[in-house]
Amino acid sequence: MKHKKQLFTPGPSNVPDPILEELSKDVIHHRMGDYKKILEDVTGKLKSVFKTSEDVLILTSSGTGAMESSIVNLFSKGDHVLVINTGNFGDRYIEIAEVFGLKVSSLKYEWGNTYSLAEVKQFLADNTDVKGILMTYHETSTGVLNDVKRIGELTKDTDTLLITDCISGMIVHPFEFDQWNVDCAVASSQKGFLLPPGISFVSISKKAQKQMERSNLPKYYWDYKKYYDYLKKGQPPFTPAIQLIVGLNKALTYILEKGVTTINTEKQELRTYTEERFKEIGFTLFIEDESIRGNVLVPVVPTNKDLDIKKLTKILDETYDLSVSKGQGQYVTKMLRIGILSEIGKDDIDDLIGKIKAIV
Ligand SMILES: *Cc1c(COP(=O)(O)O)cnc(C)c1O
Repeated sequence: MKHKKQLFTPGPSNVPDPILEELSKDVIHHRMGDYKKILEDVTGKLKSVFKTSEDVLILTSSGTGAMESSIVNLFSKGDHVLVINTGNFGDRYIEIAEVFGLKVSSLKYEWGNTYSLAEVKQFLADNTDVKGILMTYHETSTGVLNDVKRIGELTKDTDTLLITDCISGMIVHPFEFDQWNVDCAVASSQKGFLLPPGISFVSISKKAQKQMERSNLPKYYWDYKKYYDYLKKGQPPFTPAIQLIVGLNKALTYILEKGVTTINTEKQELRTYTEERFKEIGFTLFIEDESIRGNVLVPVVPTNKDLDIKKLTKILDETYDLSVSKGQGQYVTKMLRIGILSEIGKDDIDDLIGKIKAIV
């Protein structure tokens, strides 16, 4: 075990020691030259991670703030949007869009499933006024990885924007902002980026930047135009979480040197390993279709229906310092979600399995 408290949670995750050290360095000032250099560095590295030629904006907020920013910058009151809803975070995009007076339609899928492409196509054919599709790449409430590329093929060469919540999906799965024709992608520091919570990242396509001009929703702190204007000067519009951006520079160097593809493969192997180990100790996999299983977490359900998940996670956390997530929504007492982000390895999974065996 590398940390006093080992987080088997789908974000936040443990922060590797070299990055923790970076975070504890002296504070620098965001209007000075040394910060400008770091901002330019991290923006370049974020572009490599997002696989885009567009600038990636950094917001001081958790992921939900970045989701809200995408709505207020890219749409207007009354705009019709479609939410592809495969779980809790699909619900969240619906709630945000409704708060801002958008006309929200949704295609809702049972937890543990992905969307039906035919239904999305049909919806778009029947509703030619749709201004945007909002979807979750990796749905953290269920562990399902939704195919973004196929939706990009539908919105490409149309006026409809494709907005993707990639908050947990980035880094541990392939992602291609430009090639997949994504118009807005949001990500957040505390999931795959090896950092604590506090900053989020947004990239916007040329097509979406044009739509930004017609958006009439109120915004001040979230106004992307301010971020673009200041970025030209190598500055943020407001005081950012300076330490996190310094840490981000270190984290991105590590991620890019290792290679996102290598990380994808390693995480996929760890996911399969974790699945097998949990099957051995009386759990079944929540997602039947292997092709839609993501690499952020492993969702499992105990075969013994009397197993008290709440008690199990409490003992693991309080007695053994192993924090494991429960399910969300209707699965709160029925599911474990074992997060495998950051530095978690097979030995950590073995350790967790040993502790669970001792408890149940
Ligand atoms: C974590 C997460 C969020 C945002 O959560 P915050 O707590 O606001 O950072 C949104 N969507 C998904 C898919 C997530 O995993």
